[in-house]
Amino acid sequence: MLPQAPVSGALVDTYGRVHSDLRVSVTDRCNIRCFYCMPETGAQFAPVKNLLSFPQILRFLSVAAPLGVTKIRLTGGEPLLRPGIADLIEPITKISGIRDVALTTNGVLLKQHARQLYQAGLRRLNIHLDTLDRKRFAEITRRDDLPKVLDGIEAALAEGFEVIKINAVALKGMTEPDVISLVQFGRERNIEVRFIEFMPLDAQHIWSLDRVLTADDMIAMLERAYGRLTAVEDADPRAPATEYEFEDGHRVGFIASVSRPFCLNCNRLRLTSDGKLRYCLFANEETDVRRLLERSDSTDSRVQMEQIIRETVWQKWIGHEINRTTFVAPQRPMYSIGG
Ligand code: SAM
Ligand code: SF4
Repeated sequence: MLPQAPVSGALVDTYGRVHSDLRVSVTDRCNIRCFYCMPETGAQFAPVKNLLSFPQILRFLSVAAPLGVTKIRLTGGEPLLRPGIADLIEPITKISGIRDVALTTNGVLLKQHARQLYQAGLRRLNIHLDTLDRKRFAEITRRDDLPKVLDGIEAALAEGFEVIKINAVALKGMTEPDVISLVQFGRERNIEVRFIEFMPLDAQHIWSLDRVLTADDMIAMLERAYGRLTAVEDADPRAPATEYEFEDGHRVGFIASVSRPFCLNCNRLRLTSDGKLRYCLFANEETDVRRLLERSDSTDSRVQMEQIIRETVWQKWIGHEINRTTFVAPQRPMYSIGG
């Protein structure tokens, strides 16, 4: 049996990992249907009445921040589908202790939202884009929305966000023709592209190890095109992406969860849109916090919430076992956890 979780101090687990990064999903809905994430039809969504309200999310964050959570990433599903999403940003930036707020989007609605998001105080955006080829985009996402995403990226650039990164999911037999063109697109706009190895979080369980295009595969392709890439010494070893630098200083990143698992450095926690707290993307267990957030705010409920957060972190396993035969994919697919 595990010893009791600490009642004070940092949000630490039994392996000594200190947690400061919280991903908050604001919806499990999405306006496109990436085949490695959602089924084409029949995706299961939480009833809208079960989604945490903005005041509930803010209350949760106001309990988490004094425990050492400094970094928030809003995600989904597609977070720009959540009505009034920009209204959530400003109050988050005002919570004492929160130093960094970012948002991950597929970019389809970004053109309409870029200004409001910026005005609300958002400065960091991750935009998901797997290909610049319209036909392949439509095959991957089952929607013909590449022009909207490209417009969204240009709108974000025009708005002046401090950090814009492109996230591309990398699958063998799909992504090879896009690796160079995406990086070139990023180089021309001073945007870092980060390739994410395909993970077993797809709703239809199509993942297999031989469909993973690894960081090493892509580094070799990029070196053939651009010359030597040098690994960047980690400014923050807990960040999930390993970064490499081209000779001219431009960077490319790899989130190599499969070929180079980084669980021992993980400092992340996740809150799903229906109020479940998860210590890992791949966890097979989660803790309900919605019931507590539905109660009226009181010192007592805050103390209980703090202890729930501490205990969830304390239960965290050493890491996922994607590469082992014993691996069991979580019940929730990526769109419902929040990537
Ligand atoms: N809809 C937004 C988007 O696509 O950026 C935010 C949510 S999405 C679930 C977050 C990230 O998960 C995306 O950047 C996408 O690249 C990544 N993702 C989704 N399914 C994945 C999978 N099976 N393996 C690896 N990454 C995945
Ligand atoms: Fe939607 Fe993002 Fe999943 Fe694609 S990866 S289906 S954009 S939630």
